[in-house]
Amino acid sequence: MPPSPRALAHLFHPDHADAYVASMRLGVDHLADALTRVSGPATGVGPAQAAKPVLDVDLDAPLEDPAAALEEMGRLWLDDTVWFHEPTYAAHLNCPVVIPALLAEVFVSGVNASLDTFDQSVAGTFVERHLVAWTAGRIGWAASSEDESGAGTVPDGVFTSGGSQSNLQALHLARDRALAAGAAPADLRVLASVDAHFSVQKSARLLGLPAEAVVAVGVDARRRLDPARLADALDAVVAEGRTAMAVVATAGTTDFGAIDPLEQVADLTERHGCWLHVDAAYGGGLLVSPTQRGRLDGIERADSVTVDFHKTWFQPVSSSAVLVRDARTLGHVAWHADYLNPRDPGGAASPHQVDKSLQTTRRFDALKLWLTLRVMGPEVIGEYVDTVTDLAREVGEHLAADRRVELAAVPELSTVVFRYRPPGLGEDAADRLVPLVRSALYERGLGMVAATTLEGRRWLKLTLLNPMATTEDLLGVVDHCVALAEELLGEVAA
Ligand SMILES: *Cc1c(COP(=O)(O)O)cnc(C)c1O
Repeated sequence: MPPSPRALAHLFHPDHADAYVASMRLGVDHLADALTRVSGPATGVGPAQAAKPVLDVDLDAPLEDPAAALEEMGRLWLDDTVWFHEPTYAAHLNCPVVIPALLAEVFVSGVNASLDTFDQSVAGTFVERHLVAWTAGRIGWAASSEDESGAGTVPDGVFTSGGSQSNLQALHLARDRALAAGAAPADLRVLASVDAHFSVQKSARLLGLPAEAVVAVGVDARRRLDPARLADALDAVVAEGRTAMAVVATAGTTDFGAIDPLEQVADLTERHGCWLHVDAAYGGGLLVSPTQRGRLDGIERADSVTVDFHKTWFQPVSSSAVLVRDARTLGHVAWHADYLNPRDPGGAASPHQVDKSLQTTRRFDALKLWLTLRVMGPEVIGEYVDTVTDLAREVGEHLAADRRVELAAVPELSTVVFRYRPPGLGEDAADRLVPLVRSALYERGLGMVAATTLEGRRWLKLTLLNPMATTEDLLGVVDHCVALAEELLGEVAA
């Protein structure tokens, strides 16, 4: 028995254009209305309270009405969700998103193009390729150049689900290059600073490297990878008869925003003939900064680069890319399936992005960045980046002068790591206050901050990605942290 016309009306189809428009308008109105009622980054709901109403829903009993389902969704989730546009949201690397990207989302999911093969995306393939080439240009890679052997190299890359996948793919390419050169898997080593993102470790494990494969290299006073220690670590790898498969330099560490000294790291990787990956998941926004692009000088010497557009480019999740200086290196992830992307020697007739990706079916996330650039241009994004780095600097200056708190490091990008510790308060008590202050802040709906550990000590962290937040907004959050710490002191007194 075929479905009834009423049941079919749920399908995206010209016959149902009215239902589509009505449903989308309902959703947009619901969200816009919810936005006007937001009065803080969170309402403070905990896991148990959040779980119950969701898990009680009978998924076999549809409400048959989008308005009713939205109303239910509001109660279950939206009313208590976390809002990243709120000026007192300063926890993780979540950004408020730009409206042109949201406009693109309508098309990304409505049309539902898949970026694996040309015959599922048509010009979408070239939208992604053009953005990849443009980003490569911003990195400083010429559209084509000659390598040492005189062969032509062109940069390339592909959009991914996030920095973790971009890093995985980059290390995959580095590993396969090392294996192709005859190295034994057990001997492969990856060198990265102690503050590199944990996805480097995770990738190494996923790639079958031994547990000790990732060598953590020490940092300087500004928490940047120390080139002298990197040189020693590379020499030690060679002395042990192992293979340095890759060095990962971070351009914007997750906690401190530190940018590793890219030129000096590149000198070392060139000398050792080893792959240089630059993880610019966080700092990648500097590529479009009108004033700070120079901080990434040397990035063009990388073999591969990670850029998260869903962090400092103000794009909705997911939007990230892995870029490579030499397109041929991407061949390490190419697989050919007869049904999808059969081997095709020429290639020009069937340009398949799946050949470059760890994913098969893949969202047309590139369209979000495309409409963003076509509406706003890169300069505006870069100005947002400058604004949030200025904000972090100002907040940092205030905290450095505030005797109630301690600052872990001078802000490098847009994070501020601090904690309550007036003169006379012991380190242990300061440590124990950190999680208490953080959860009390959330539970009372006063703001959201993150927490991290530095050399065994606990710290609070502000991550600032909202160009509309002000120094006063953030100093207000710090004041709340101080007041809560003073209130909670009794609980930690040893
Ligand atoms: C956020 C981040 C990642 C991981 O990116 P996801 O998009 O969350 O997967 C990797 N490296 C650094 C430096 C990051 O800040």
